[in-house]
Amino acid sequence: MIKKRLLILGGTTEALQLHSLVTNIPNLEVITSLAGRTSQPISRSSRIGGFGGVSGLIEYLQREKIDFLIDATHPFASQMSWNAFKATKIVNIPSLQLLRSPWEQQEGDNWIEVDSNESAAQILSDLAERIFLTIGRQELATYAHLHTLWFLMRMIESPSPPLPSGHLLLARGPFSLVGEEFLLQKYNIQAVVTKNSGGSATYPKIIAARKLGLPVVMIQRPCVPEGDRVFDIQGAFDWLIKLISFNSNILSNRRQGFPS
Ligand code: NAP
Repeated sequence: MIKKRLLILGGTTEALQLHSLVTNIPNLEVITSLAGRTSQPISRSSRIGGFGGVSGLIEYLQREKIDFLIDATHPFASQMSWNAFKATKIVNIPSLQLLRSPWEQQEGDNWIEVDSNESAAQILSDLAERIFLTIGRQELATYAHLHTLWFLMRMIESPSPPLPSGHLLLARGPFSLVGEEFLLQKYNIQAVVTKNSGGSATYPKIIAARKLGLPVVMIQRPCVPEGDRVFDIQGAFDWLIKLISFNSNILSNRRQGFPS
C-alpha cells in the first residue's frame, strides 16, 4: 500500500502530542515542521526553518508529495496559518487547523482587551507601575520606551535589546497556580499583560491575577483563515483517520473496478 505523507506545522505542545499520537498510524509518514525560533525546542521535528512564503510552501508540498497538512501552530502565528491555507488550496490537498480555544473571561476577572502589543503599551502608564509582561521576546521592544514603568518579563530564551527596564525571568511552562501567585506577590505586581493564547500551561497566571484582584491586559488573537478547524488533538486524529480511510476506499474500489 502506498504511504501517505502528513505535514504538521508545529511550535506548540499540541503539535508535539499530535505527532506522538499519529506516528503509529500504519502507512502514514509524519513530518513536523518548526520555524526554528528556539535553540532547544521541546517539539520533535523533522525539518526546521521557514519555507519561503506561500510559493516556498507550495514548492515544498509538491516536492515532498505531502497528502495532508495539519496547522498546529500557535494561535498568534497567523502568518504561517494564512500561508498554509493559501498553499494547500493551490496544491489542492486537505488541510486542517488545530487551534486551542481562547480563554474566556470569568467572574472575578478584570480584563482589558486590546488588539495588539502597541495598544497594550498605550494604556499601561494609566494602569500600573509594576507589570508582569508575558509575551514573546521579539515583542518586548514595543514596551521599551515606557521608562517610568517596571516590568517583570518572562520568556523561554534571552531577548535582544531594546528592552523595557525591569527583571528578566527565563522559564518554560507549564506553570503552577502556587508559583504564579508567589511571583506576582514577590515582585509586587500591579497588572499582567498577556496574549490570549489559550491552553492550560500558562492559564494559572490568569487565575492568580483573579485571586489577587489584578487587572489583566489581554491581547486578542489575530485573524486566522476560516478553513476546517478542530480544537483538540482527538478532533485532528479523527479528521486524519477519516481521510485515510476515504483514500484507501477509493483505492480498493479502483482495484475492484468500482467507480470511486
Ligand atoms: P508567524 O508570524 O505566523 O510566521 C512567520 C514565519 O515563520 C512564517 O511565514 C514561516 O516562514 C515561519 N514559520 C512559522 N511557523 C513555522 C513552522 N511551524 N514551520 C516552518 N516555518 C514556520 O509565526 P511566529 O508568530 O513568528 O511563530 C513562529 C513559531 O513559533 C510558530 O511555529 C508558532 O507555532 C510558534 N509559537 C509562536 C508563538 C507566538 O506567540 N507567536 C508562541 C508560541 C509558539 P516562511 O514564510 O519562510 O515559510
